[in-house]
Amino acid sequence: MEKRGFTFRNGFLYCEDVRVKDIQTDLSTNGIVPSSPCFVYSKEKIVSNISAYQTALKMLNISTLLNFSMKANHTPAILQIVRSMGCSVTLVSGMELKMALKLGFDPRLTVFNGNGKQDWERLLAIEEGCLINVDSPFDLMQTMRMCQKLRKNSNVLLRINPDIDPQVHPFISTGLANSKFGINTEDLEECVTLLEKCSQITLVGLHCHLGSTIHNVSVFRLCTMKLLSLKSELKTRGFNNIKYINIGGGLGINYKQLAERTSPARSSCTMSLEDGYTQTTVQGNNARQLNVTERVSQNDLDYNSGCSELMHDDLKVPTPGGLVECIQSALVDSEVTLILEPGRSLVGNTAILATTVLGTKGNQTKRFIVIDGAMTEVPRPSLYGAYHHIELSEPTDIVQVDKTTNRSSLNDPHRQVYDVVGPVCESTDFLGKERLLPEPHEGCGLAIFDVGAYCSSMSSNYNLRLRPCEVMVDGSTWHIIRRPDTFADLFEPYEGHWQ
Ligand code: PLP
Repeated sequence: MEKRGFTFRNGFLYCEDVRVKDIQTDLSTNGIVPSSPCFVYSKEKIVSNISAYQTALKMLNISTLLNFSMKANHTPAILQIVRSMGCSVTLVSGMELKMALKLGFDPRLTVFNGNGKQDWERLLAIEEGCLINVDSPFDLMQTMRMCQKLRKNSNVLLRINPDIDPQVHPFISTGLANSKFGINTEDLEECVTLLEKCSQITLVGLHCHLGSTIHNVSVFRLCTMKLLSLKSELKTRGFNNIKYINIGGGLGINYKQLAERTSPARSSCTMSLEDGYTQTTVQGNNARQLNVTERVSQNDLDYNSGCSELMHDDLKVPTPGGLVECIQSALVDSEVTLILEPGRSLVGNTAILATTVLGTKGNQTKRFIVIDGAMTEVPRPSLYGAYHHIELSEPTDIVQVDKTTNRSSLNDPHRQVYDVVGPVCESTDFLGKERLLPEPHEGCGLAIFDVGAYCSSMSSNYNLRLRPCEVMVDGSTWHIIRRPDTFADLFEPYEGHWQ
């Protein structure tokens, strides 16, 4: 069977059919500076994630639009795949709109979102005929003024704040009444009254985005019902052009799919050089008993197969099919076009950050693996304590010798509990805490998993670090899709202004 995405083979991490370590070596040999860290994407994974949504949406028998949320990843080569598969994009800034135009997206199918739009952004969105998501009465008034000034009409959606709890981390929850996003019940009447008076603006849709990393898909059903009921209400007030019901993005992915492989609970197992893990008792509330008898198969578990025997019960992975099934019976109005605008669930699991171990340090109570990747490339752990799976991407060279038998084996690496940290001068610069990992040699490859969403697009030059190289793997070939920053890129904005 063809292997997809990321797999371990003989202790080496592969992206599709390419060994991750080989990519790092080749980049270095070809003079790419820095060659590490580096984002590595699987093209096939991106394509299959998009296909999964498209297949699921076909079940609905109504017209649909799948809009990739560009904020999750704005690397052009990825957007090209999105466009080639017939998707549009949801945008949150004028520069994202410029990127969409540059890459040939039809602006009339893009949703231009934002709770605070600047004049130049609004002007561009109106000129290009984007679907404009209105977030507040002031946003609507500014849009009306701009339409008058440009003598242009505009199609808008109202972004509703439905006061629905998406049950996610508060920092990425947007659908509750206390959120800065969306129009609350009191402001809705003001917006409707303004729209009644404005001939240049047509209300064509209703929008709602509840938050991100949603696992309980029933909240999408609630949201669909609220928007449809509002649509009927507005029809009685004469708004007959509401065609789009946009329920946003937000579907979660299973970041902890392989968490058990590096869980410190496993350190209670006694390891024998002969048998690997011989003791099967594992501590921890939710952890199931491990019954790991073969070291090699343990290391080579297919990353995509879900390794169900190692998963926690509470980690049910939401799927596009599950989402569509859940909203299907609520979509009684066949006149509407449903818009979904996922970001994370289309690209989150399509990339790793390939990093290199700089060294290890610490004592018996606390040990660290220091790598060349950092919060500047993978900011989610430092922003809201998010979990990313971490593993060595090649076997460690450090040989463990058993003092009693005097035997050694590379297949039996010495595992310890480490915090994996980067070189950025901040205590929040950690990629993972308390991970049970083999002791790595200096220069060993180490991969941070599931970094396809909100990593490259949120990466920064903090500490004057260079944003890294990105490569796309397609079967057994790969190519660079973004060169790393250079010092010239960093200095250029100051050029002529510093002396
Ligand atoms: N739509 C809007 C309006 C958003 O703000 C976001 C992200 O916050 C998304 C869609 C995409 O969300 P996700 O990446 O969780 O699917």
